[in-house]
Amino acid sequence: MSEEEEFDVIIVGGGPAGLNTAIMCATRHLKVLLLERDKLGGLLATLYPNKIIPNYPGFPEGIVAIELVRNWLQHLRFTGIIVKQETVLNVTENLMVVTDKKKYRSRVIVIATGTKPRQLGVPNELRFSKGHKGVYYFVSHPEEFMGKKVLVVGGGDTAIDVALELLNLAGEITLVHRREGFRAFDENVEKVRKSGMVNFVLKGEVTAIKGRHRVEKVVIRQGGKILEPRVDAIIIAIGLVPNNKPFKNLGLKTDEHGFILTDRAQRANIEGIFAVGDVTQVGLRLITVAAAHGAIASHFIYSYVKEPYWTREAWPTKIDHTP
Ligand SMILES: Cc1cc2nc3c(=O)[nH]c(=O)nc-3n(C[C@H](O)[C@H](O)[C@H](O)COP(=O)(O)OP(=O)(O)OC[C@H]3O[C@@H](n4cnc5c(N)ncnc54)[C@H](O)[C@@H]3O)c2cc1C
Repeated sequence: MSEEEEFDVIIVGGGPAGLNTAIMCATRHLKVLLLERDKLGGLLATLYPNKIIPNYPGFPEGIVAIELVRNWLQHLRFTGIIVKQETVLNVTENLMVVTDKKKYRSRVIVIATGTKPRQLGVPNELRFSKGHKGVYYFVSHPEEFMGKKVLVVGGGDTAIDVALELLNLAGEITLVHRREGFRAFDENVEKVRKSGMVNFVLKGEVTAIKGRHRVEKVVIRQGGKILEPRVDAIIIAIGLVPNNKPFKNLGLKTDEHGFILTDRAQRANIEGIFAVGDVTQVGLRLITVAAAHGAIASHFIYSYVKEPYWTREAWPTKIDHTP
């Protein structure tokens, strides 16, 4: 590892939350390092680049996800922010950021690492989840499922959206859900039901995935029965878990699922650490919320680092996390 470099702010994660925090910090002339392990743009770049985002203010006809990312990157170009493609492995108690390539020091660290899909934890799931062997967590390219027998797992908005997206495309769709009721927009659940194109397996639980080289069958327990339908693909849409592993040793306060708790300034309970976007206990996981977190955090980061006369606010000893 080479010499440590020092910054005012290090932002971990280059999705909407990290990018917008970086841009807003740069407008305050802070020395910013943005670390992204994969693609700038986060989920918009990796998961749904071609989706038309219907709910980002300022684009009445929607905007294609990757176009929105390009606009942010264009903005980034004029700011002097240093961007590096590195994976953050951990953060030490004295706020040293350790990546797969280097170590950096900073007054402030912003956690903007987002989420990843929750796994079912059943046999063969991981083996078939890489290299298009039939286990998926999102539908990035719907055409892959044309004419296929697809099993969707979950009962929330993501699962219902997946079923809707594949309605006239997949050869056969089965939806497996642990309960009888759905936690998704009623209107969309109705659309799926009325389509007549989806087989429902309710109060059912997937217990294994079978196949020699790729997914061939799925084992489902439903009450006392065991079902073993043949499928080409299984799409697991059972929620998201926070990417918080590199920060585990810091003693951050989180909710029971690991989402980081912050105060109104996006400050975590450890001095110098802020958290923004989906990795926080935000309640509403949207691009516009992630971007807004960036604006809020940058304001308080500026006052913490520069200590202007108009704000001398001590780091709160007790953070009120009541929603
Ligand atoms: C299928 C789907 C469709 C959606 N559609 C919409 C929509 O239409 N409208 C809307 O408003 N919202 C939508 N959302 C929600 C939206 O995508 C999220 O709210 C938003 O991406 C959150 O931004 P983020 O920056 O917090 O996290 P992310 O976008 O997840 O970005 C986090 C980034 O951190 C990086 N990272 C993680 N760990 C490390 C590490 N250790 N070191 C370095 N980098 C790291 C990741 O690689 C990633 O790039 C959708 C979500 C999904 C799953």
